Amino acid sequence: MAKRDYYEVLGLDRSADEKSIKSAYRKQAMKYHPDKNPGDKEAEAKFKEINEAYEVLSSPEKKSRYDQFGHAGVDPSAAGPGGGPGFEGFDPFSGFGDIFSEFFGGSAAGGGYGGRGFQRARPGDDVDVEVKLTFMEAVNGTTKEFAIYHLDNCPTCNGSGAKPGTGTSTCSTCQGSGQVRYSQRSLFGEHISVAECSTCHGSGKIPDEPCETCKGKGKVRRKKTLKVNVPAGVDTGNILTVQGEGDIGETGAPRGDVRVHFKVEPHKTFRREGPHIYQDVHISFPQATLGDEVELETLEGKIKFKIPAGTQSQTVRKITGGGITNLHGYGKGDHFINIVVDTPTKFTEKQRDLLIELAKTMGDPDAKDNRSFFDRVKDAIS
Ligand SMILES: [Zn+2]
Ligand SMILES: [Zn+2]
Repeated sequence: MAKRDYYEVLGLDRSADEKSIKSAYRKQAMKYHPDKNPGDKEAEAKFKEINEAYEVLSSPEKKSRYDQFGHAGVDPSAAGPGGGPGFEGFDPFSGFGDIFSEFFGGSAAGGGYGGRGFQRARPGDDVDVEVKLTFMEAVNGTTKEFAIYHLDNCPTCNGSGAKPGTGTSTCSTCQGSGQVRYSQRSLFGEHISVAECSTCHGSGKIPDEPCETCKGKGKVRRKKTLKVNVPAGVDTGNILTVQGEGDIGETGAPRGDVRVHFKVEPHKTFRREGPHIYQDVHISFPQATLGDEVELETLEGKIKFKIPAGTQSQTVRKITGGGITNLHGYGKGDHFINIVVDTPTKFTEKQRDLLIELAKTMGDPDAKDNRSFFDRVKDAIS
């Protein structure tokens, strides 16, 4: 199938400048983005075509080759022997994430493309931080303040890397572009890749005298206090992203994010599994037999909890909705109460005699104290 003209694909004429190419691309790409057209094969093909056109027309070098030679100038497969698929060094989806981070990531900062060809300025790295929460803070939600250490422009030199009062010179490695180009030859022709210049770290400038604070790097790690609203129901392992508070990016690129990893402390009484909480309640043998009312701790405070007469050990009772707010759904979990009947291990002489009497009335007329003489002496003096 014959390839459509790239200008036609983007609805432009041949005099289109960088700005109108970019804006035409955005409009088209938004319209045919797969997220907006799920399962639509035609939109997907169109999107691919738009992306491919933009990859060429947004790069001054590729654009000029395309203007002169048409598809043969930029598409390795067109020049390849036999016209095979030839995807060597050519992927219409390459750089996809970079382009889209710009409108889906919220930062439409200009300058990313300016003078730097297709290659986008690199965004800053994300910063990870662990924030501890008490069990009840996680249950009820809270506001948390904590410190992070992110990369920032050096306050002494304002990011230039030069000692105040001294100047900078153009980087000789990259001639000030901040980028170096590598050409790779393949069967289908030459493929150019671009990388950040390692001499000037992409700034295009070299300080005449390096700043003492940042040793000429232009960036330092600085402390910043952040405050976040922690939603009710978070658990250990949940991550909250604070956008744009991570490390500073290259000029024109957005900052990274801060990823807050929550760690919830255990509770002295409750165990948690997702939105549900579990609790053991210990009662005595007479309480289990005769029934009672005990005070029970719940997430909403203390309640009176009825133990029916004849309760067996390991009976589980449920307070529906007595658990934790479900972070990924609706409503709340439940509160499960496991009733444990404690078998006494220590009693007074009087209690022992009463138990023997009880046993006799319960069909064991021969019930007697089965302990050794030694045990009885030990009990009597304890
Ligand atoms: Zn500095
Ligand atoms: Zn350089």
